[in-house]
Amino acid sequence: MNITKNKVAAIHYTLRDDQGTILDSSQGRDPLYYLHGAQNLIPGMEEGLEGRTTGDHFQIDVSPEKGYGKRDPQLVEAVPRRAFGGQNIEVGMQFQTNDGQVVTVTGVDPENITVDANHPLADQNLHFDVEVIEVRDASPEELAHGHVHGPGGHH
Ligand code: ZN
Repeated sequence: MNITKNKVAAIHYTLRDDQGTILDSSQGRDPLYYLHGAQNLIPGMEEGLEGRTTGDHFQIDVSPEKGYGKRDPQLVEAVPRRAFGGQNIEVGMQFQTNDGQVVTVTGVDPENITVDANHPLADQNLHFDVEVIEVRDASPEELAHGHVHGPGGHH
């Protein structure tokens, strides 16, 4: 069975940046299950997986446009330090804002904390080493919800 729209696929992956540094990997964990064609994954991954089948092992290279987007400089802002209470703030820390957005601390000075709401992988070329573990039909319920149930799913 091949990966096409409305199939559930399980993959193992290792993600590297342009320097070859590993950013993320499913190795040592359960494979990633997703519903193909339901925008569960970034567009570049879905394109690279289209038509593949169990046992295929290959590389997918994803540009920022088909990954996590270009950086938007307007999403970087300086927040007065007092907004963080007495917390010890360091570069690299992440916080969730009141509206649910995740921001990363990119600068610290005595007056202000600089936070960046861009996705940490924005502007990056992504290189995925992918192995297809399983491909199956989605259930009607999975199709209605737009995501995978059961092993690797959220229920
Ligand atoms: Zn559901």
